[in-house]
Amino acid sequence: MHFDPVYLLYVFLPCFGLMLLAQLWVKSAYSTYSRVANRNGVTGAEAAQVILRAAGIHDVRVEPVEGWLSDHYSPREKVLRLSPRNYSGTSIAAVGIAAHEAGHAMQHAQSYGPLVVRNLAVPLASMGSGLGYLVIMIGLAMSTRGNVLNAFTLIGLSLIAAVAFFQLVNLPVELNASRRALEVLPQTGILTLEENRAARNVLLAAAMTYVAATVTAVAELLYWAWRLGLLGGGRSRDE
Ligand SMILES: [Zn+2]
Repeated sequence: MHFDPVYLLYVFLPCFGLMLLAQLWVKSAYSTYSRVANRNGVTGAEAAQVILRAAGIHDVRVEPVEGWLSDHYSPREKVLRLSPRNYSGTSIAAVGIAAHEAGHAMQHAQSYGPLVVRNLAVPLASMGSGLGYLVIMIGLAMSTRGNVLNAFTLIGLSLIAAVAFFQLVNLPVELNASRRALEVLPQTGILTLEENRAARNVLLAAAMTYVAATVTAVAELLYWAWRLGLLGGGRSRDE
């Protein structure tokens, strides 16, 4: 196996650039709004608890977790975890992110369809594209002249397809969690409308990282499908 300029030009460089831009945007939005305190002095942990209670959710714990922007909601454990700066910080970014995670808890409590599908897709997708490539490489190495389709390349492609499928259902789940957050923050009086616009910037930037991940996963899938000659006109030979 060696380097493919088609991959570099149409998949790697544009997707890497997109991911980088999204990461930079998140970093900049977070560093700006994690320094702006909200007027009510509400911490991320308090905001999460207020929102959960307002939504009638009483069985979800709110805990701190180590790491930078490691915030997440675990449906299996029913725990909403916030990174240290968001857990005890009173910034607009902290309550914005806490409200987003509470949005996931609301989705879970309501068995929101895309979340259910996403959770079903997690086991396959978490094997990840890494294993997918490995299996495809083995398949390509084993391929006989002119025929790259074999059990290995097809299983590898399926794994890469599972990752793309996961990202495609994950995206609406993430956007919906942010939409819920931006509705509930002013409703519960945690943020003023003006502060809520600032929180929107943070969540919009975070959403871009999910858009970038989805575009990347789909581009990888299309590339490999083409490479295996499944899109017609592709290269069915492997030099
Ligand atoms: Zn999320």
